[in-house]
Amino acid sequence: MESLFARIDSKREDLVSFTQELVRIPTINPPGEDYTRCAEFLGERLAKSGFSLIYERAKGTPGDSDRYPRKNVIARFEGKHSGSCVHFNSHLDVVIPGKGWTVDPFGGLVKDGKVFGRGACDMKGGLASSVIAMEAIIEEGINFSGSIEISGTVDEETGGYGGVAFLAEKGFFSKPRVDYVIIPEPLNVDRICLGHRGAWWAEVEIFGRIAHGSMPFLGDSAIRHMSYFLQLLEQQLFPKLDQKKTIMPVVPDGARRSTLNLQAIHGGEDESFLGMPSPCVPDSCRLVMDRRFLIEEDINDVKSEVIALLDHLATSRTNFRYRINDIMEFLPTMTDIDAPVVKAVSNAIQNILGKTPDHVISPGTYDQKHIYRIGHLGDCIAYGPGILDLAHQPDEYIVIDDMIASAKVMASSTLKLLGVS
Ligand SMILES: [Zn+2]
Repeated sequence: MESLFARIDSKREDLVSFTQELVRIPTINPPGEDYTRCAEFLGERLAKSGFSLIYERAKGTPGDSDRYPRKNVIARFEGKHSGSCVHFNSHLDVVIPGKGWTVDPFGGLVKDGKVFGRGACDMKGGLASSVIAMEAIIEEGINFSGSIEISGTVDEETGGYGGVAFLAEKGFFSKPRVDYVIIPEPLNVDRICLGHRGAWWAEVEIFGRIAHGSMPFLGDSAIRHMSYFLQLLEQQLFPKLDQKKTIMPVVPDGARRSTLNLQAIHGGEDESFLGMPSPCVPDSCRLVMDRRFLIEEDINDVKSEVIALLDHLATSRTNFRYRINDIMEFLPTMTDIDAPVVKAVSNAIQNILGKTPDHVISPGTYDQKHIYRIGHLGDCIAYGPGILDLAHQPDEYIVIDDMIASAKVMASSTLKLLGVS
């Protein structure tokens, strides 16, 4: 291991410049800019290190077009003999920079031991660390059985349909091809993320009847109906959700329970569309809800809680009419703490960072949901060098020392999983 770790240390400059180059490809999603350039940039590098490549465009998935092709790359390196496969999966896409930056979000500035830029933390720094780690194993000429894979996939920030979900449908995240998956998402260098809470997004529309705004008594205001629904949520659902505790070690602490975000509300005529307000009673009001739920909860109960409140209003308020549509739903996942991939990475963190790692659960979902649900692969975690709180923030950065440390953790746990002691 000493010589492997020394080799990773010696790759520091390469690691930094590779991260900078990745950050400089502005893979903003939506709409999905520069996916091809980024996938090929990663693929060409891995091909030089001896990986064989497969490119998969997720034709027909949301957002895919000739202008914005959903291009993924899967790279595989075979060991001397057959055996298990360890797969590192990183998403190539980043969210929009947003406001408040003091540096160029796509400049890849290096300062004070950090690389700055949109995606540096989430998660191009993690991707670069995994690449350096696997290249170090190959260059050391370590004789291992099995194989190593690195994938660069798209669209994680918008649900992963054109990325991991698409590839999982094709068997890229199932046995016998793959046994262990590590996703270098930014969950902090000394923590292991076992999974995530569930998510249910839904749209509730409440109906009214249009009339002249000067005679609202002749119509029926959808916004007033909605206000009764919001009151019920405040009085009955929010307090109930606060009481729902979980065995899932979700971070931060505030997310260690059920939560609901009222994400958007639209009612009445759209004045920005009409140019000025129009005197009408609103005949429609729509609410988008983002409900995050726990492993102890059943998705059907999660939905029923909301529907029961709406049904209560439908029977108690005159002319209360509604519809509710699912937008998307993902079940919670939590990898067993005794799973081989958890143990291997835990031991490596202990040895390299001298610290017993925390096992955590992410408040939001990431691509593990597809690997679990479509690929039926349970041996999956997120582990990467980025600082969770910096994701999607202005002046996002990755600490270079953390990238080096995580690369050592990735390399040594990979060898352990492949049976090299
Ligand atoms: Zn991410």
